[in-house]
This record gives sequence, C-alpha cells and structure tokens, in this order.
Amino acid sequence: MYTEFLEHLTFFMDKEDIKINEPMKKHTSFRVGGPAKVFLTVHSEEVLAKIMVALKERKLPYFVLGNGSNLLVSDQGYDGVMIYLGEEFASVEVQGNKIKAGAAAFLGKVARKALEEELTGLEFAAGIPGSLGGGAVMNAGAYGGELSQVVTRIRAMDQLGNIVLLEKEEFAMGYRTSVFKTKPYVILEVEMELEKGNPTEILGKMNEYTKARIEKQPLEYPSAGSTFKRPEGYFAGKLIMDAGLRGFSVGDAQVSEKHCGFVINKGNATASEIRTLMDEVVKKVKEQFGVELEPEVILLGD
Ligand SMILES: Cc1cc2nc3c(=O)[nH]c(=O)nc-3n(C[C@H](O)[C@H](O)[C@H](O)COP(=O)(O)OP(=O)(O)OC[C@H]3O[C@@H](n4cnc5c(N)ncnc54)[C@H](O)[C@@H]3O)c2cc1C
Repeated sequence: MYTEFLEHLTFFMDKEDIKINEPMKKHTSFRVGGPAKVFLTVHSEEVLAKIMVALKERKLPYFVLGNGSNLLVSDQGYDGVMIYLGEEFASVEVQGNKIKAGAAAFLGKVARKALEEELTGLEFAAGIPGSLGGGAVMNAGAYGGELSQVVTRIRAMDQLGNIVLLEKEEFAMGYRTSVFKTKPYVILEVEMELEKGNPTEILGKMNEYTKARIEKQPLEYPSAGSTFKRPEGYFAGKLIMDAGLRGFSVGDAQVSEKHCGFVINKGNATASEIRTLMDEVVKKVKEQFGVELEPEVILLGD
C-alpha cells in the first residue's frame, strides 16, 4: 500500500520532502521516539489537499506534527504518515488589534510580534515552545492566560482537502483540549483578537514569566513540559513530590528534581522508560492520594 502511495506522491511533491523511516527523536522536545513510516514536509495548501485526499482514498493513518513539544512517540515509532507544515505556513500578519498567523508559526514569534505592535493578551505564550497550530489544539496556556482567551477564528483543512472556517463556539477549547483533539482537521491559520497595551508593561510581563520558567522549570533537559494535567483541586507536581517521587528514575527518564511536574530525559532515555516512569507515578499518586493523574503529553505509537 505504501509503495503505491509513495509513488503517487512523487507526481506533486519533491523527493526531498518525502522521508521514509524518519526518526521522531529528531522532531520531539523529549528527544525520543522511533521512526515515522512516512514523513512529509508540506509547502502549500494545494499539495496538502492532494495528500489528504490520497490518505483518505487509501485509508492510511496520519498525524499532524507541530513543534513536537507535547509529544511522546514510542520507540517502535509511528506506523503511518506524519505531516509537517513548512515555513510557508508560518506567516504572522497584523491588522489593527488582530493577528492572523500560520499554524507553523512559533508561539514565541507570534507573542513577540504582538509586543512589537503594542498588543496585549499573548504575554503568557512567549515561553511556550510550541507552534500556533499545536497550541490551538492543546489550548496552550500559562500564568493565567490561554489561547481560548484570544483566538477568534481558525482556518483548517478537512480530510477531503476542503477548507473549513471555525468560529469560537465551534472549536470548543477547554483545559488543554479543543475540538481538534477528536476531529481530523489540519489547522492552517489562526486569528486572534488582542487589545492595545503598553509595550513596557507587555515586555515586563514577558520577562517576569521567562524568569519564572528559568527558575522553576528544568529547561536544561529535554522534556515535554508538564507531563500530567492539573487534576481539579490539586497540582500534579505537588502530588508527585508529596508521594516521595522527586528524582525517581527509570533508566534515564526522571521525575525532575527541580519541578516534579516534569518528566525529563537525562540523556539517553527511551520512550518505554518514560512510559514506565509515568505509569509508576500514576500508580503511586493514586495509591497515596486517590487522585488519578492523566497525561497531558500526547502518546503516539504502541
Ligand atoms: C519546556 C516546555 C515548557 C512547556 N510549557 C507549557 C506551558 O506553559 N503551557 C502549555 O500549555 N504547554 C506547555 N508545554 C507543552 C507544549 O509546548 C504545548 O502543548 C504546545 O502547544 C504544543 O505545540 P506543538 O506545536 O509542539 O504541538 P505538538 O506537540 O507537535 O502536537 C500537539 C498536538 O497538536 C496537534 N497539532 C499540531 N499542529 C497541528 C496542526 N497544524 N493541525 C492540527 N493538529 C495539530 C498534534 O497532532 C498533536 O495532537 C511546554 C513544553 C515544554 C517542552
């Protein structure tokens, strides 16, 4: 099936944009993960539409990759087609107090553009190492802010290659979730509405948040940020610390000593070590406090 699919792709894609058995450890912030069977870098909506149709016709599984900063791919890899949006999808345009940006634009870049334009509302996003598309799927947030507060409209592509426009009530963003977690759309562009602000105050907030991240988070190690969601009424990191799991390790996977909410890769961790460690953490926290931790990190592959 893949041989014929790959041959079909060469009619409208350059060979260098089609990779076979691409190691996912190169594309995830955890720096782990086996090969994706097919890895496609896409440079235009036209080509993306053709890929979507080809996938649908052949019933092949696919996954849209953002910046890989919330992703744990198994050591066996992903037995399907990975779709990666190239730089052509990373534009950032400002009109008055509105920003329209491509899904591949880094959240940091969009937040800096807002600062340049003296717009407030995206300060929280400056230090989140994801793309705008991945951020919208996850409703990324920090320090009291989250994308749901500013995103007004999303342009996406469906499985038939059609463009769909989703309004605020349709993308249903909640705590680290949105409709895109279950609907197979590829996000192309995100529109945000911000407010005029004072650039000194905007920069001040960004610097304050950056300082807090450097002080509190183990940014010196590969990770996927907070490994678990915040259970209602608790903090995952505190529960893990109180369960005596600070520094708890499985191979090179470790509960960070600096911030127990982060699982880090100390060097050569495997996905399986990280998964085992996460399972142990869930089990011990449940045993001690009766609280069920749920991964925030997206697990992909067997
Ligand atoms: C050090 C560190 C700190 C972090 N801090 C925070 C934080 O403060 N707050 C927070 O919320 N998160 C944080 N994260 C987690 C992560 O950065 C966010 O979840 C981010 O929004 C993920 O974006 P991404 O582009 O990396 O998405 P990926 O990890 O690549 O993908 C995440 C999900 O989005 C989907 N996706 C990506 N792009 C598209 C698209 N164009 N169309 C459709 N689906 C798409 C993927 O299929 C996947 O389901 C942190 C991570 C790290 C490593």
